Amino acid sequence: MKNDNTFHMDIDDFRKYGKLMVDFIADYYENIETFPVKSKVKPGEIKEKLPDHAPSNGESFESIINDVTDIIMPGITHWQSPNFFAYFPSNTSFPSILGELLSAGFGVQGMLWETSPACTELEIHVLDWLVDMLGLPAKFRSGNAGGGVIQDSASSAALCALLSAREKITDYNTNISGCNSRITVYASTQTHSSIEKAVKIAGIGSKNLRLIDVDETLSMRPKALARKIRKDKDDGFIPAFVCATVGTTSSNAIDPIEEIGKICRHENVWMHVDAAMAGTAAICHEYRYILDGIEYADSCCFNPHKWMFTNFDCDCFYVADKKALIKTLSILPEYLKNKTSESDNIIDYRDWQIPLGRRFRSLKLWFVIRYYGVEGLKYHIRKHVKLAKKFVSWVKKSPMFQLAAPAPLNLVCFRHINGDDFNRKLLARLNENGQLYMTHTVIDNLYTIRMCISQTNTEERHIKRAWEIINKTARELDN
Ligand code: PLP
Repeated sequence: MKNDNTFHMDIDDFRKYGKLMVDFIADYYENIETFPVKSKVKPGEIKEKLPDHAPSNGESFESIINDVTDIIMPGITHWQSPNFFAYFPSNTSFPSILGELLSAGFGVQGMLWETSPACTELEIHVLDWLVDMLGLPAKFRSGNAGGGVIQDSASSAALCALLSAREKITDYNTNISGCNSRITVYASTQTHSSIEKAVKIAGIGSKNLRLIDVDETLSMRPKALARKIRKDKDDGFIPAFVCATVGTTSSNAIDPIEEIGKICRHENVWMHVDAAMAGTAAICHEYRYILDGIEYADSCCFNPHKWMFTNFDCDCFYVADKKALIKTLSILPEYLKNKTSESDNIIDYRDWQIPLGRRFRSLKLWFVIRYYGVEGLKYHIRKHVKLAKKFVSWVKKSPMFQLAAPAPLNLVCFRHINGDDFNRKLLARLNENGQLYMTHTVIDNLYTIRMCISQTNTEERHIKRAWEIINKTARELDN
């Protein structure tokens, strides 16, 4: 019953509907495999079912929830389905969902240490834990010259890194005088689009982004990078930033960061390592090789909101020199000044990111790490990689399909031997059918299907079934 004087939901109703909401989510997970993985609605279909105007008078919570079931649910693509193999994972877990709920409950805005000390200190601490968990160099720990911060996304992390690199190379003058059109940035042809976006936002201009050639494993060629940097310097450009990727979006290719890092060190160029999805694998010692050379990085990031059971958004971003980041992003208006900020022994995370405000994101990460423990997380990462390897072995044995790229971790890129049109039709039919969801890329100019195996509840039976469906559909299409 609504409190009619204040329009607020009262405490008793909050208890009642809060429990109902948790039951709703639990039922959703119990039944998730009964829904078509990719939503089948047409553009505009959800909007059409919504009233033209907001209600004048508040409505019952029951009616809101009913509309979630009737209107919203058909428009949901079920990212948490164990049959979701598209794009990259955005996997979550119950401890994470509960951590997010608590964060919403506290409703804290943690822009300054002062505005909620626990928000800042838990974040510092959990990010230090992750330095150890991933075997990152000690320079990224908070007690040293660097430190970690939670960003909303790997895109924001790349932008903050690029801005810091731009400032460092121009002696912190670009922020004052505007961008120097001679600054150049480097990444492989396989880099994520967020790098080009960052280059545009940072005022460097996409024509100053150099895309470096890759080898047969789709990893950046360090020699080509070195040559390009040299040539640019000879031509009067100012090379400022290299993004190396550990686990490209298209095929999970791993750039050789040790060799790239040495070049960057020699040429005085900032190296950022984007390990958005694959970075999580470094929790397991046997996959830690993917970060060999990380000690050369000026910054790096990975996304627990991709492959570490922590719901979106949660990107862990580390810098080796926090002063460069803070000098780049800090602005101090009178209304934010306070005594604690003036002392030098706290962090105000507003200076480590683009927005001023920030949510209490470390809660969900803390919940996840504590609930699973490092061993629990390793267990699940290993399971996903093992499933991917199994899928690879099936593809390799098949006379109809072939592997399109190496599959070092949790992503398998493959294609049917009948060519692009066939693969395009095959993928469309598979996704229409609703039993699973995969997406595509282009490798060596050929249309390629991507199967990313990292959902929280994906088991062997799901990939077995997927392989059966893929084969059956391919045979039907071939007839
Ligand atoms: N970098 C890589 C390698 C990715 O795979 C992705 C995924 O989309 C991103 C960056 C962007 O991630 P975010 O959505 O956190 O910005």
